[in-house]
Amino acid sequence: MTTNQSWQQRKQQVIARGMGNLSPIYVEKAENAYVWDIEGRRYIDFASGIAVNNTGHSHPRIVNAVKAQLDRFSHTCAMVTPYPSFVELAEQLTERVPGETANKAMFVTTGAEAVENAIKVARAHTGRSGVIAFKGGFHGRTNMTMGLTGKVAPYKAGFGPFPNEIYHVPYPNAYHGISVEESLKGITDLFAADIEPTRVAAIIFEPVQGEGGFYQAPPAFAQALRQLCDQHGIVLIADEIQTGFARTGKLFASEYLGIEPDLITMAKGIAGGFPLSALVGKAEIMDAAAPGGLGGTYAGSPLACVAALEVLKIIDEEQLCDKALAIGEVMSKRLQDMQQRFADIGDIRVLGAMVAMELVVPGAGNKPNPELTKALVEAANQAGVILLSCGVRGNVIRFLPALTTDLSTINEGLDVVERCLAELVANA
Ligand code: PMP
Repeated sequence: MTTNQSWQQRKQQVIARGMGNLSPIYVEKAENAYVWDIEGRRYIDFASGIAVNNTGHSHPRIVNAVKAQLDRFSHTCAMVTPYPSFVELAEQLTERVPGETANKAMFVTTGAEAVENAIKVARAHTGRSGVIAFKGGFHGRTNMTMGLTGKVAPYKAGFGPFPNEIYHVPYPNAYHGISVEESLKGITDLFAADIEPTRVAAIIFEPVQGEGGFYQAPPAFAQALRQLCDQHGIVLIADEIQTGFARTGKLFASEYLGIEPDLITMAKGIAGGFPLSALVGKAEIMDAAAPGGLGGTYAGSPLACVAALEVLKIIDEEQLCDKALAIGEVMSKRLQDMQQRFADIGDIRVLGAMVAMELVVPGAGNKPNPELTKALVEAANQAGVILLSCGVRGNVIRFLPALTTDLSTINEGLDVVERCLAELVANA
């Protein structure tokens, strides 16, 4: 019999070390909230392929739509001979982003590519070069997006130089004592010391920092960014790659912030696991790039476009925004109960089904405990729950279940996590 361990050994022989895997679970099949490994074990999936399978694994509607598309054609290149699904998806997304302004869309393949294009478009529109991003932010692994990412190890270490004219300022973080005022002061200081606002093309922010640790932007902060951008003619980009597609209880997390971003990047949950990303924003800005300046061979793959159209229908018909809120409520209550039991849980952050608990050293303020975090991920994996960590300090457990997960499965998964945490704490 082949085992997870034997495949992991084979993997280590042939896959570059830099492409790590969080758990040595080799997947045989996956359905809705569950994954089965090649040894026949079933897992509750609290990772969803990092916030991708918001509609659950192998949703029958997505599978059928993609199969039907595959029978017709799999690729023509939308920049050579397009197809209706490519246009229909753009129609849907431009309608659904927050705000009343006329919007346009473009498609590429990965999240990082969507961010790259957001910067290209903002620069073409403004004729300026500077970009402001946030410490702790994550925007991808290409050269530009590494540059924008606000965490050195492991994303940037050894990979420079990065594009110039990128500046990082603090992101508000109530738990770690960074106020909205301090964060905004970071920008005004930058305008005084490093770059004048008339040379800044864009400010890019995540409505909830994802890889950084699930820290939520307060509405007052987002509104102040909007105001600064309006004042200085700067393009405001919301990176909704992890927060998008009903994950937070709204189609886009920006809807909580009371602002209309100029550009929104989308990927992950957009197409239920098919590689697709989008940049959607104000038509006037989006049209700044000349024909041929945007796109790519696989940009807006027909298989991914039909999947994405199904994702939107599933979100509506199965009321996945409401389901995300219900999951968040259950998780919030359970984690708060756990926090009463374990002083190791320093903070709990919940926005719909984008849920995190930050693990700290008991009695030491908010001193991070990355060792316990790593041990909990491993223990949960072994006990049948696929769990992810994140955070600039490596001490945040993030929960990203499919929004189609029933609440009894959420509770069952949390029972496992609670048991594992109790054992680790008892043996510490
Ligand atoms: N932006 C955000 C907010 C992300 O969470 C990610 C992926 N974790 C990316 C960009 C990059 O997406 P991809 O890995 O598809 O390039």
